[in-house]
Amino acid sequence: MKIAVVGAGMSGLIAARELKRAGHEVLIFEKSRGYGGRMATRYVENDKKLRLDHGVPGFAAHSSEFKTFVDALIKKDIIKSWSGSFASMHSKDDRTVGSEGSKRYFAPGGMNSIGKYLGKGLEIHNQQRVVKLEKIHDDYDNLCWQLKCDSDLLIEADAVVISCPAPQALEILKTAEDQEQILGLIQYLQTVTYDPEFALMVVYDGIEPLEWDVLEVEDPVIKFISNESKKRDLRKVSLVVHSTTDFAISNMDKEREEVALLTLWQLNSVLGKWAESPNWKQLHFWRYSQANKWLKNDFMEISGNGTPLALVGSYMNGNSVEAAYLSGMKLGKHWAEHLSANK
Ligand SMILES: Cc1cc2nc3c(=O)[nH]c(=O)nc-3n(C[C@H](O)[C@H](O)[C@H](O)COP(=O)(O)OP(=O)(O)OC[C@H]3O[C@@H](n4cnc5c(N)ncnc54)[C@H](O)[C@@H]3O)c2cc1C
Repeated sequence: MKIAVVGAGMSGLIAARELKRAGHEVLIFEKSRGYGGRMATRYVENDKKLRLDHGVPGFAAHSSEFKTFVDALIKKDIIKSWSGSFASMHSKDDRTVGSEGSKRYFAPGGMNSIGKYLGKGLEIHNQQRVVKLEKIHDDYDNLCWQLKCDSDLLIEADAVVISCPAPQALEILKTAEDQEQILGLIQYLQTVTYDPEFALMVVYDGIEPLEWDVLEVEDPVIKFISNESKKRDLRKVSLVVHSTTDFAISNMDKEREEVALLTLWQLNSVLGKWAESPNWKQLHFWRYSQANKWLKNDFMEISGNGTPLALVGSYMNGNSVEAAYLSGMKLGKHWAEHLSANK
């Protein structure tokens, strides 16, 4: 079967690998320039060694299935155990430093290196945002899906997997909503909601290294700060300042420069005067950072009367990298068993 996967984050890449392994022809369409989705890394201009994870900074593994995958990535030197100091700050003079309870992992080469590794050998079409989904008859008069991208590219496929965050999946499904089965999916997806977040990336010259890896803050603006320089022994202090959900909701319509300045003022009161004036800064807004209400399914699918369609993503059974992996893997295995590779 020819299967189109929308989105090259963890869930889409894992589903695509399983389906390719089962003998299907798999094509991925991704709106961004890279792969990995929210496992994202930004490079500082003029210095490729300076890289900051502005999406997920690190993740935990609970299920045996995901732990096996994590072990394989460790053996390939893509990720390693994040065993640094995880500090909490209750007020300016009250900071406790300790190691965090559950074991976490990070990617020394940048979180996007996980996506790069998973994407190897897959046919990925970057900078192709899927904007429309329609059922049509192909040249042999068989029913199939037609996907339209914002570049006007048209793709025909026997089956479709949508792996974007629920609101982005909804946008695509609504373009095909005249079908009863799709309407059912839409109603279900509308119950998923997300926390937004600002991630401010900052780099400083000539500042002494900081002792902590992650600093959790009790603050109206800043939720926690990830010390990216400690992750990969960078000579310049490089931080990602993750905002609280309330701050993101109240300020999402403001100019980005104003939001960055508000965050820097607050950083001054948390870390000291030096933190207010970085040598480099960039702000990223995550409209769908992590789901706060998710679905209790491994994945969702409709038969589409012979043209199947499935939804995968971390909003299935959670909001983590692990949830994304398990959702993509379970759909991949299910379709590998039930869809014939030779349509
Ligand atoms: C700031 C932040 C902190 C986080 N912290 C943690 C944490 O501590 N622990 C943890 O486990 N998880 C954390 N997460 C969540 C975790 O990163 C995600 O749950 C997981 O990576 C999601 O994977 P996914 O495949 O479901 O979706 P995504 O990674 O979002 O992938 C979806 C892909 O679809 C693409 N796409 C969207 N619409 C279209 C379209 N129309 N056409 C084509 N492509 C499209 C997107 O560009 C994206 O690449 C965090 C996330 C953020 C942003």
